[in-house]
Amino acid sequence: MEASRLRLEIGGVVQGVGFRPFVYRLARELGLAGWVCNSAAGASLELEGSEAALEGFLLRLPREKPPHAEIAHLEVRKIPPRGEGDFEIRPSLAGEKTAAILPDLAVCEGCLAELFDPADRRYRYPFLNCTRCGPRFSILEALPYDRVHTTMKGFAMCEACRAEYEDPRDRRFHAQPIACPRCGPRLEYWDAEGRALAAREEALPCAVRAVREGKILALKGLGGFHLIADARNDAALERLLRRKAREEKPFALMFPSLAALREAAEVSELEARWLQSAEAPIVLLRRRAAAGLSTAVAPGNPYLGAMLPYTPLHHLLMTEWGFPVVATSGNRAEEPICTREAEALERLGGIADAFLVHDRPIARPVDDSILRVMAGREVLLRRARGFAPLPVAVPVSRPVLALGAHLKNTVALGVSDRVYVSQHLGDLQTPQAMAAFVEAAERLKACYETRPETVACDLHPDYASTHFAESLGRPLRRVQHHHAHVVSCMAEQGLEGRVLGVAWDGLGYGSDGTLWGGEFLLATRAAFQRAGYFRPFPLPGGERALREPRRVALGLLYEALGPAGLSDFQGPLRTAFSPAEWRLLGKMMEKGLQCPRSSGVGRLFDAVAALIGLRPIQKFEGQAAMELEFLCEESDDRSGYSLEVRPETVGFVLDWRPMLHELLADLAQGKARARIARRFHLGLVQGLLQAARLTGERRVVLTGGCFQNKFLLEAAVRCLGEAGFEPYWHRSIPPNDGGISLGQAAVVAAQDRG
Ligand code: ZN
Ligand code: ZN
Ligand code: FE
Repeated sequence: MEASRLRLEIGGVVQGVGFRPFVYRLARELGLAGWVCNSAAGASLELEGSEAALEGFLLRLPREKPPHAEIAHLEVRKIPPRGEGDFEIRPSLAGEKTAAILPDLAVCEGCLAELFDPADRRYRYPFLNCTRCGPRFSILEALPYDRVHTTMKGFAMCEACRAEYEDPRDRRFHAQPIACPRCGPRLEYWDAEGRALAAREEALPCAVRAVREGKILALKGLGGFHLIADARNDAALERLLRRKAREEKPFALMFPSLAALREAAEVSELEARWLQSAEAPIVLLRRRAAAGLSTAVAPGNPYLGAMLPYTPLHHLLMTEWGFPVVATSGNRAEEPICTREAEALERLGGIADAFLVHDRPIARPVDDSILRVMAGREVLLRRARGFAPLPVAVPVSRPVLALGAHLKNTVALGVSDRVYVSQHLGDLQTPQAMAAFVEAAERLKACYETRPETVACDLHPDYASTHFAESLGRPLRRVQHHHAHVVSCMAEQGLEGRVLGVAWDGLGYGSDGTLWGGEFLLATRAAFQRAGYFRPFPLPGGERALREPRRVALGLLYEALGPAGLSDFQGPLRTAFSPAEWRLLGKMMEKGLQCPRSSGVGRLFDAVAALIGLRPIQKFEGQAAMELEFLCEESDDRSGYSLEVRPETVGFVLDWRPMLHELLADLAQGKARARIARRFHLGLVQGLLQAARLTGERRVVLTGGCFQNKFLLEAAVRCLGEAGFEPYWHRSIPPNDGGISLGQAAVVAAQDRG
């Protein structure tokens, strides 16, 4: 029978996932000759054999591919047969620089079975991995993804590992971080001063004992250090809280098993799937009343941020403990996670009682990702481990480096029709975050060997990311913050053409130099027009108002009631200020001193939280809004407050003053805070709907930090859908400023296309 020969070009995520050995096995099984190798875009292969065998191969390839492989693009060409008899795996083709870098993956079932099998040579070895699991991005120093370009380069493979590494039939064929107890990384247990007390098999039991005894353990994990403590132990957690000067942010937890987690929180089927996925993010879950956890875990918060063990080391520890532990990033809030031993000793000294460390270096900080299921599907709130730096498909003609915003910063690189988005880097207000930011930008460029012609940054002149962009001395494109929000969602959802972008956040720099944040933009990827916005109000004290919702509330009152109304005002807000402060801030607003005006919806949340006496001063960005969201779930009121949507000479304005008056009336009548919170949320959604009707645009994109709010997002999606609109919202890119870098890159790419 005559043989045919095919050439296949495959693009997507096919490197570092066991794709070539899979192709090798499938081809051999079908009696096909030819070869496979990694290529610039992914993988290239040639196959020779009978028509039936070739057809079988093409049919089974997508169906049976390894779990983490993704075939984004497949091109098949018929070429003349060569009469080869064998199938082989060939060395990589040159120019491998655009293949996707794989994120770190949770330990797979095969490796877990070995971990707990006394007969296996890797029994209880905390660093085992294979082509289907283990570290990738966090150990990668350069492309292509070969061992010499990872932090495993310092470990020489033993003979047994080498044999597995070179055998195409083995699960560990070309598993770059391959290791075993004889040749791989090893554990050490240190006291608080960094003195090694135990090593290898002796180290783990020491750490287990320490946490059982109520000590705080600094654990070097996959992408950085975690602080670990027994989540049931009040004294331990209070010590951790005190030492970490934790800004009242809820702690993330790790549970020994899904069953144990179900006892503490409600877990839907979709949430369970994500918890057990290879990405293994922190999932925000509704907690149960009798959770058996210390009250210090997440005081007053109806949700828990929980995850399951994702490295072999976590599995070994959690199996020993058998109880949930707090596993919070080893850092201060919104700083990048700490990755080096020396740094950990310095930054976590005085917090941790003991250290469990190892000698596999971490190439870059990679935090745990955070995911919340909203409106029936997942939305990433922090995109890091398991997801970064997977790209988003965006037509890019010229390379562009996008530097993001200021808070929850990420950077992005657009090259050959993809935008690679970095891991979450933190708020750019600490030296650590700045260093991680600069390094992430350099690394992205270096990995893909591009010198981007264009640099994109925020329109805000004072962001550290803007200053850095200016210092690069390349053509600069300043992208308006809310346009970037809208386009980040369009890019991830694959939307082209014109949409109504609803971008609600704390604030961002507007095209007119004022602070925006309650925006309705008629937008394409390349351009936008401001169709409508919230009536601006003063923020007495500027920056300080961001931390003090009570000031925003005062600004709102001043704007609505005027100076006389403000001095006559009676309400719980009065008690949040001394009489002198009240007068002084009133005077500041009269004179317009240090009172920038803003239209940020996020600030409206702050104001309402302060007006009802919920939170006059917040410890972190978004705290007041979060508490207001939780509160409104306790009411079942269905009538929202009134937002007046009023046409202006250009576009329309959403006036919140009727809303404020109704709210103050409810407050005066002693209505429950939950009811007020809920009516506020519903009023915003009704206003959104009215505004959407005015523009007549059918596709509505919901973006900005405010849409991390489950109640708001779900109500908006439902109302828009019922009214015949098509709502779009985020999924794999955060609605908060973590998405800005992608948006910037996609805007510039669209403008370049013309
Ligand atoms: Zn594995
Ligand atoms: Zn070995
Ligand atoms: Fe924003």
